[in-house]
Amino acid sequence: MPIDVKSCPVCGCPHSSTEIQLATDWQFIQCPNKKAIYKVKSENNNTVASCLLNEDEAYLGVGNDILKNSRTTLREFSTFMTTLSSGAIATYFALIAFVIPKDISFSPKQSAVLAIPAVLFLICIAIFLSAYFPSAGTMNLNSVSSIMEKHKAQLGSRYISIIWGIAFFSAAIASMITITISFRFLVT
Ligand SMILES: [Zn+2]
Repeated sequence: MPIDVKSCPVCGCPHSSTEIQLATDWQFIQCPNKKAIYKVKSENNNTVASCLLNEDEAYLGVGNDILKNSRTTLREFSTFMTTLSSGAIATYFALIAFVIPKDISFSPKQSAVLAIPAVLFLICIAIFLSAYFPSAGTMNLNSVSSIMEKHKAQLGSRYISIIWGIAFFSAAIASMITITISFRFLVT
């Protein structure tokens, strides 16, 4: 159902639009004359239009923030996790040095097991760094759907990287605790 506003709550003129399909819940729309946002919905097959309430303006702001900041948030989280994982490698080796007496030597197999948490943290770093990779493919700046598709695809792939990164980080922490405790008992 197309939008057919008899009297715009912003400018008072009639507006019609086939671009947005009218729904039974409120939708934000821009007044073509004054460029201000108002809201429309369908009620008994009629278009109802209303000014924005303070609450609507707040939600509109939240929507804008989510759209604009989701990329930055994912990047900041990746940066934080990269730093945390590098710090964890140093912490792990310090912990091992503290827990296990210096004069103990290990077999190659035992040394390999001792290295597992550090390797897992290194994999985490690689995964979180992949969120910085420039994206392949092209985008048409004149096309809304092209930009939206690119945005969704980029967020999607970064989100998957972050899920994998968190999985490896949890595995690394778990192995760090298990291996430190087992070696502590092994040497006593
Ligand atoms: Zn208007």
